[in-house]
Amino acid sequence: MLTFSCGAEAPPPSILLFVIDTTRADDPALGESRLETTPYWRRLGEEGLVYSRSISQAPWTLPAHASMLTGLLPSQHGVGWVSTRAEDALVTVTERLAEAGYETLAVAENPWLTPTFNLLQGFDQNFFIRQKGLTAEEAVAEWLENRPAGAPFFVFVNVVDPHAPYQGHEACRLPDRLALDEARALNPGTHPELCVPADPAELEVMRTLHQCDLTLADEKLRRIHGLLLEQAPELISIVTSDHGEHFGEHQLMSHQFSVRNELLAVPLVVHGLAGIDPARIDAWVGTSDLAPSILEWAGASPLPGQEGRTLPTRPEEGRERAVVSEYADYVSLEASTGMGRRLLAAGRGLRSDCGPDQPVFGSMRSVIRYPHKAIQYSEYDAELFDLSKDPGETRNIAEENRSLLEELLALLPEAGRVPNPSPELPSEPAPEILESLRALGYLEAEESDPSKTNGKE
Ligand SMILES: [Zn+2]
Repeated sequence: MLTFSCGAEAPPPSILLFVIDTTRADDPALGESRLETTPYWRRLGEEGLVYSRSISQAPWTLPAHASMLTGLLPSQHGVGWVSTRAEDALVTVTERLAEAGYETLAVAENPWLTPTFNLLQGFDQNFFIRQKGLTAEEAVAEWLENRPAGAPFFVFVNVVDPHAPYQGHEACRLPDRLALDEARALNPGTHPELCVPADPAELEVMRTLHQCDLTLADEKLRRIHGLLLEQAPELISIVTSDHGEHFGEHQLMSHQFSVRNELLAVPLVVHGLAGIDPARIDAWVGTSDLAPSILEWAGASPLPGQEGRTLPTRPEEGRERAVVSEYADYVSLEASTGMGRRLLAAGRGLRSDCGPDQPVFGSMRSVIRYPHKAIQYSEYDAELFDLSKDPGETRNIAEENRSLLEELLALLPEAGRVPNPSPELPSEPAPEILESLRALGYLEAEESDPSKTNGKE
């Protein structure tokens, strides 16, 4: 462990990466948004940098977090692309910070962020909340009490309040004065087939519950940020999400089998950067930019071969940028293992009622070079959209713009590694991890006890 002397140079800043799982860019109250669901997040944005065009490199938890922590695309880091388990050889932002003398803590509510899947390489300590019987705030407080003073820290927190099944809370203002219990009964768990169009009134109830869950996550952010600031006034905080959520757009629910911007566009705020004025940054950025940015702000050495770049911190910087996202179908993942078979079975069930016109099968990659976005599918013709006129991606203009489409598709990197299951895959994660994945809707309910799909706790 390196030590930091009290010389003329300021010690590296402590850093918080706070991920509110399953939050769309238009969900939290950042800037001009309509609902005051996230007052604390909003305050951090007003005092810091709000990135209005931030894109996740993958539409679901595991590969999205892998891109944040490695600065790589899914086809480069391979997590959620060839395997559900990160290779030991991957170099993460955490490992770099540990080498630079940082103390590191991970506190996760999402079971994909457990040591089973090996993304949390380099963390001195990690708490999977469900195994510890603590709240996220208690886990952070306990760690802070026991850590030796002096070294800077890197704390990563993932909270899943807005993830289905949506719970809401007593103060939630539900449509039609619905009771909370009645509203909870309308969760996506009651519409397990992704392509079944839900009743618009039910969608509104689900969206409201989801918004109320964001308030719970915001309160966790307020408490944890407060605890860390007490010990590190120079704290740099990054608050973002791993992916969004469909609420009936493209006849989809949840966050699988799509690379639409309802899933890829995520909120992003950076707070506490010394010498940087508060601003709204409209440049296109990716969440794979977080790892290189964190390392630069910490003065640590960069990661090998990273796709991401350091985030612009002034409104006039970095306007020209193509941002790539990738989704590998479960079929590409390790079908030969227990985990792979479980995912495949769940994917078949979810898509069983999708019509042939729904491009939900196979792998897909998107590239945004504003105002255009191209999507390449393994099973369908590529699509092209003009986001300035059609932000909902409903009018495919590929036919009349072939050369522009080709130009965008050429910006996609080589597809990287061919799916090739590793022998080290977790064929059977621990029961509590399987149980948590099931509760979040990733795996099919056990036939013996279908009630287990309900309830986040
Ligand atoms: Zn997630």
